[in-house]
Amino acid sequence: MQDNFQIEAVCGQARLARLATAHGVVPTPVFMPVGTLAAVKGVPQAVLEELGVEILLANTYHLYLRPGAELVRDSGGLHRFMSWDRAILTDSGGFQVFSLASLRQLTEEGVQFRSHLDGSLHFLSPERATEIQIALGADVIMAFDECTEYPAELARARASMELTLRWAKRCRDCFEAHRQKTPVDAKGRKNPQLLFAIVQGGMFPELRAECTQRLVAMDFPGYAIGGLSVGEPRALTYEIVARTLEHLPPDKPRYLMGVGTPEEIVQYARLGIDMMDCVLPTRAARHGLLFTSEGRMNIKAARYARDFEPLDPDCGCSVCARYSRAYLRHLYACHEVLAQVLNTIHNLAYYLDTMRRVRQAINFGDFRRAARGVSSAEGKAN
Ligand SMILES: [Zn+2]
Repeated sequence: MQDNFQIEAVCGQARLARLATAHGVVPTPVFMPVGTLAAVKGVPQAVLEELGVEILLANTYHLYLRPGAELVRDSGGLHRFMSWDRAILTDSGGFQVFSLASLRQLTEEGVQFRSHLDGSLHFLSPERATEIQIALGADVIMAFDECTEYPAELARARASMELTLRWAKRCRDCFEAHRQKTPVDAKGRKNPQLLFAIVQGGMFPELRAECTQRLVAMDFPGYAIGGLSVGEPRALTYEIVARTLEHLPPDKPRYLMGVGTPEEIVQYARLGIDMMDCVLPTRAARHGLLFTSEGRMNIKAARYARDFEPLDPDCGCSVCARYSRAYLRHLYACHEVLAQVLNTIHNLAYYLDTMRRVRQAINFGDFRRAARGVSSAEGKAN
């Protein structure tokens, strides 16, 4: 699988690489915007293309409930359904089952749960989650895992990790048996999907090491670090990521799930993470919180009412090129839909620019170039 992932430059532990998919080459380290319902809330696909999004994430749990995986397959797969010809990653649905659904019943076989939408009864197993993701047809799909809760005792974290390992094998077996059922794309091709495994093990470095080694022995084309950002202190997240990375193969992509702030995504890229996703830039934007080169801005603050400067003078996005802080504040105060759209476009531009700077820094062999811009912004925050 080395063909899918080419490392082009290394700077310390950080790597500049290219992840090849049937829907384009993704330069890494990369931030993946979250398009939960096959849409990045409020932002049309054409704008995402202009922003330079090369890969986005869609949520299996949500798409399974609405509109249903078979409908998406019949439409020609997720790429055609949402008219997005660049890469897509789907999660396995496990995290949402554990965080959103009610009345969960976990067995060796899988998880029975009630939909958070209408209370209807559903069952997801490693096989079912894999079949659904084959039907959706994303370029990168994820093994169905159990996201261990925080805090968890050692014995509980181990039992949960063992379950994730058994489920990873079942996902891989199901994937190998059924991968041909993925939808045919507009050019008549079947997407050669990549199935990534997810490392669990709670907050115990020794469990993380063991889980990683046993997953690597199964030989997946990429590995994710899951079960973090579940309420633990940030310093602990960082330590567990660093300790897990020690055991991951250097020639395979590494995906840190559900992280983070602009400062954090730089830090994790520096540690050697290649892929990240987080709802923060999009969700914060809808609440009027904007990430800028001058720090975080709460656009609803009264001090912006007569501030006719661009949102972020250092940002090259279409929002900063055109609109003032006063106008954006006005839109937000009036609950105008356009406020959410424009705020989201800017925050995504900020995240994507941050990762662009990280990639340039690795290429130049000087990671301080990436860190400086963000740390000076952080210094001015609030
Ligand atoms: Zn901007």
